[in-house]
Amino acid sequence: MHHTGVKEVGMVFKEQFDAIDFNTRWIDMPAEVNRVGHLFAEISGNKGKKILLIGHLDTVFEKDSPFQKFKKDGDIAYGPGTNDMKGGDVVVLYALKALHEHQLLNDAQIIAAFTGDEESTGLPLDISRKDLIDAAKKSEVALGFETSTGFNYATVARRGSSGWQLEVKGKRAHSSGVFNERVGAGAIFEASRILNAFYTDVKGEEFLTFNSGVILRGTEIKFDSAVSKGEAFGKSNVVPQTVMVKGGLRFISEEQKEKARSKMKKITKENLPHTSATITFNDSYPAMQPTDGNLKLLTLLNEVSKDLGQGVVEAYDPGKRGAADTSFVADYVDCLDGLGGMVHIHQKKH
Ligand SMILES: [Zn+2]
Repeated sequence: MHHTGVKEVGMVFKEQFDAIDFNTRWIDMPAEVNRVGHLFAEISGNKGKKILLIGHLDTVFEKDSPFQKFKKDGDIAYGPGTNDMKGGDVVVLYALKALHEHQLLNDAQIIAAFTGDEESTGLPLDISRKDLIDAAKKSEVALGFETSTGFNYATVARRGSSGWQLEVKGKRAHSSGVFNERVGAGAIFEASRILNAFYTDVKGEEFLTFNSGVILRGTEIKFDSAVSKGEAFGKSNVVPQTVMVKGGLRFISEEQKEKARSKMKKITKENLPHTSATITFNDSYPAMQPTDGNLKLLTLLNEVSKDLGQGVVEAYDPGKRGAADTSFVADYVDCLDGLGGMVHIHQKKH
């Protein structure tokens, strides 16, 4: 969300890509998206595979984060986002610089796409991810340089992530009447029933997880989604009339996502007396499935790694990886991710 900072990082990379004869463009986002934009660098040609290299310019740290400290010690830089993912961005740049130096980029078709909003994707997605998807449609292979999980693993599949919001209504009344024919169960018991049924009936499939992140309940509630904070008012002698729960859902395929959603919807409708509930879903990252094409890329990387004496490279467990930009292009090109930098824990504290 630090618009000027993200753009400044973009300009540093732009200059470097310009210097190796890439056509660079800064893509502004419209005001409604509330993100600053992306840097794309491209060389056009017909030789070799058409390649898309994916990075991002933003970090998870806000402008006023106490962790916003940058230090350079000789050739080593320390700071927020060096791992996720300036390290990966630098891997992309220096690989291309080396190829350029040896005139190996002549007539190649390569796009380096560095988004400015990977950590919190701008909405709507059809604006914020349009340029990335267009670049994928022009490419055959996408390589993501997100945080690595070691030399010996690459990502061929990762789960998608999405959100859900549950709203429950009950009948406000004096607590002496709770459970009777006129008052019913109240909103809090109903919300508890729903969440418990999610836990017992929806949980369990491989790669499927869902979390309930925040809940507000009582006679009156207020929630400000911009800052994810709220307040609740209620009394022990009043049957509560309202509950709101916000959560997330991660999945390995669209099919798994839809199946989980329909189970959750069904549970939401089986209401306790004098209560009602609705659940709504929103998409954020699609899943990246372990396709044959992705596995072929992994085989290639494995061979190269062994030739370089770096050992075998295997597929990383998709259940352990977070979502990333590669997922948006996985339907259009063969993908490999997790090719970037990696946290290295020093003895000394920086
Ligand atoms: Zn990242």
